[in-house]
Amino acid sequence: MRPCRATPELRAKDLARDNETRRQRYADNKEKRLAANREWKRANREKIYVNNSNRRALLKDAIGYHSLDDLLLIRDEQGSKCPGCLRTFGDEIKATVDHFVPLSRGGTNYPANIQLLCGSCNCSKNDKLWHEWTG
Ligand SMILES: [Zn+2]
Repeated sequence: MRPCRATPELRAKDLARDNETRRQRYADNKEKRLAANREWKRANREKIYVNNSNRRALLKDAIGYHSLDDLLLIRDEQGSKCPGCLRTFGDEIKATVDHFVPLSRGGTNYPANIQLLCGSCNCSKNDKLWHEWTG
């Protein structure tokens, strides 16, 4: 077996060349890549919403994670209606993630602690428990 002759200097030089190649390739295809990213974002808005929701929960030190499939299941269980105002979710009434026990009060980000509310109800409920909001 041949001994490896790469020195740290040679590896650094290879890395710099690789980085320059990637930079050039990105510059050559920038518009095409940006258009592809825009198209992906347009086609995957729900995934982006779920990722942002999980990220916000992480930033609040909440434990737990939910997936898009979890939210679709919860939406089906709720009959696609906001339990606060009973309006049906659709193009005009967007479903938003609400935590039964708010993250600010120690709630988890697991599906068991999640319901979907319309934006208006979720904003109104804020960090209250369900019975505090409805009572
Ligand atoms: Zn509502």
